[in-house]
Amino acid sequence: MTPGFCITLSKADKPKGRTCVVLLTDSYGRPMRDLRISITDRCNFRCFYCKSAVFSNAKERAEILTFEEILRLARLFVGLGITKIRVTGGEPMVRRDVDRLIAELSRLPGLEDLALTTNGFNLAEKAVLLRANGLNRVTVSLDSLDGARFAAITKSNDFEKVLAGIHEAKRIGLEPVKVNCVLVRGFNEDEVVPFAEFSRQHDIAVRFIEFMPLDEQGQWNREKVVTGAEVLARLRERYEMVPVGKVNDHATSADYAFADAPGRIGLIMPVSVPFCGQCSRVRLTADGKIRTCLFSVIEHDVRTVLRSGADDSAVIEFITETVQKKERGHRINEPDFEPPPRSMSFIGG
Ligand code: SF4
Repeated sequence: MTPGFCITLSKADKPKGRTCVVLLTDSYGRPMRDLRISITDRCNFRCFYCKSAVFSNAKERAEILTFEEILRLARLFVGLGITKIRVTGGEPMVRRDVDRLIAELSRLPGLEDLALTTNGFNLAEKAVLLRANGLNRVTVSLDSLDGARFAAITKSNDFEKVLAGIHEAKRIGLEPVKVNCVLVRGFNEDEVVPFAEFSRQHDIAVRFIEFMPLDEQGQWNREKVVTGAEVLARLRERYEMVPVGKVNDHATSADYAFADAPGRIGLIMPVSVPFCGQCSRVRLTADGKIRTCLFSVIEHDVRTVLRSGADDSAVIEFITETVQKKERGHRINEPDFEPPPRSMSFIGG
């Protein structure tokens, strides 16, 4: 019997179109609910902490999963209890027909939440179509509210377009619209208050993410990490911050509200306050590898299984056995920590 078990749900608990749910669990008993699908390893930005300045080592097209393969895997994962899918990249919006993929994914029976992480360069144009095709919400990566610094970080001049995309997503209800900001000491830690003001002014959730050892150039070190505790202290110098806790056990962000204004601040602290104990995430890379942890140094090639002509039960067997090998957590704080062989843009966050 493949690992995992089937539970018959009460009427209220039955997600759309399901009679029972096979829970995809790892060897620590953690149920997997969130699948992050990287649909491309390409990106039109060159964020210094993510991808090198040269368009070096994107995979050949034949190595990248087709939409049909992505949809088949998504259908099988959802059948195994995944209720939330996040589409990522590289930059997912550089892949043609992403809106068609969103439409197909949103029709999967049992899927409760479909989200997208983007750098926002063309979100203003695409938001209405993505919403109409079933996208629920969007997260935009933005590490500076200063146009010149944005350009220095991303090597792109799309600052105003990204802001327009955020506001358009909010206007049409791709809610909650979230902005993810990676803080790097010596680079943008002075933007905590400007982002807080942005959140208050536009009632948009801003999440500050600790710098992780996933950069292509290997420049990460602990001194460059601006911890969540530091961010909170900086905010409390100016605002009354009210803890609102986590939206659910698996959430990565510790959230705070402003006592006197709309807006929301999230602290994502993988380095200083790891949240692996409740991890419910599994990832699929653009070239068809299952990653059981963001920091996995081992990957599991499901593309070869698919392209070998395997039937659904064989693919399910591969998925469930792979999840059984999921790491207990990352080892960033361990002396023997080894960064993964892929940088963030090849994983998709
Ligand atoms: S580091 Fe790995 S185990 Fe920890 S929360 Fe992230 S994906 Fe889960």
